[in-house]
Amino acid sequence: MYCPFCAATDTKVIDSRLVSDGHQVRRRRECLDCKERYTTFESAELVMPRIIKRDGSREPFNEDKLRNGLLRALEKRPVSTESTELAINKLKSQLRATGEREISSEMLGNLIMDVLKALDKVAYVRFASVYRSFEDIREFGEEIARLGDQD
Ligand SMILES: [Zn+2]
Repeated sequence: MYCPFCAATDTKVIDSRLVSDGHQVRRRRECLDCKERYTTFESAELVMPRIIKRDGSREPFNEDKLRNGLLRALEKRPVSTESTELAINKLKSQLRATGEREISSEMLGNLIMDVLKALDKVAYVRFASVYRSFEDIREFGEEIARLGDQD
């Protein structure tokens, strides 16, 4: 790829290592022209099942949308970017492991909730409250109480 600073075509890789539990390769590159350094990430692009929405329409799995949803739930929570990326990779593995070409948005939502529950309980409750739209405040309270029991 071109140098993002000066658009020169020659860059060299000065460091290369596995990150995200081996799901990505992180490369440090140096531009041979301007000597600026930058980082690239490489990961395999694999076919993910499409998502069947509640109204029956289909849409492609969107990793950015998933990441944004998780980040919104994890806002101001003590969870590292690395843990978040690991959770996203775990979710993607689970989706591929279903072997399905299409899965319901409901199933995706449940997978996300399982991952969040293990990652951060506050984030889980935030996500679940939006996703499940709890019927009333009592039901919401019961869910939180259940989480407390698990400790
Ligand atoms: Zn350059």
